[in-house]
Order: sequence, then C-alpha cells, then structure tokens
Amino acid sequence: MKVSFDFDSTLSRRDVQQFAMELVRDGHEVWIVTSRRSNDDAEMTDPWVKDRVLRSNKKLFRVADNVGILRSNIQFMNFQMKSEFIKDKGFVFHLDDDPDELWDIIATKDPCKAINADHFDWERDCREVLNKSQP
Ligand SMILES: [Mg+2]
Repeated sequence: MKVSFDFDSTLSRRDVQQFAMELVRDGHEVWIVTSRRSNDDAEMTDPWVKDRVLRSNKKLFRVADNVGILRSNIQFMNFQMKSEFIKDKGFVFHLDDDPDELWDIIATKDPCKAINADHFDWERDCREVLNKSQP
C-alpha cells in the first residue's frame, strides 16, 4: 500500500519511525510529504535562509535513510497544502499532527484517510486502514 507521513512532529518521532520502518519492511510504499522547502527551492533564497534549510533537511534525510524511505519518495511542498500532492495519487493514509492539513485532505474527498498523529489511537487507525485496503 502507498502511505504518507508528515515529517515535523510526526515522522520526527521515534514511535512513528518504528512504525514506518515496519511498513517499509512489509513492502509498503512509504512517503514523506512535508510542508518544508526543498534544498533546490532554498537555493533561490538568501544565504542565511538557505543554510538553515539545508541544515534542517539534513536531519530529515538522515531519518528517511534510517527508516528506509527512498529519496524519490520525499515530497517537499514548499509551504503549499499537502492535499494538492496527495489527491488522486492512491495513498491509503496520511499521518500528520496539523489539523488544517488533515481537514484539507478530507475536503478533497480523496480516499486517502487523514489520520491525526496526536491522537492516542493513531497507530491502530493506520493499521485498520492497511487491513481494510488488502486486496
Ligand atoms: Mg507536522
């Protein structure tokens, strides 16, 4: 299944990393969809901002490598809403701590289930979606 994780305050968390690692191991297509600026986008800003972006993305790439997420499965939204990317791509869930992003995904009526990472039941919700989506 194709699944998506927010990074800041979501996949940056240890418990979420453990879960994502398990999904990679089980052969799921795991993505990071983050509001952050890409390194390429940061090239166009002033050196101070660029430096900050590159440094904080370094941590993101380190986590991605550790979890087993391919570079080609990392989407930087450059502060656009994530629903613009997620819509019609076949994701079964997106896990995020930002209610605005989650509501926005729900509003697109895409089948992708928007799951709140701050909810105590987030992992059960994710597993339930995966079980239901089995062919
Ligand atoms: Mg977040």
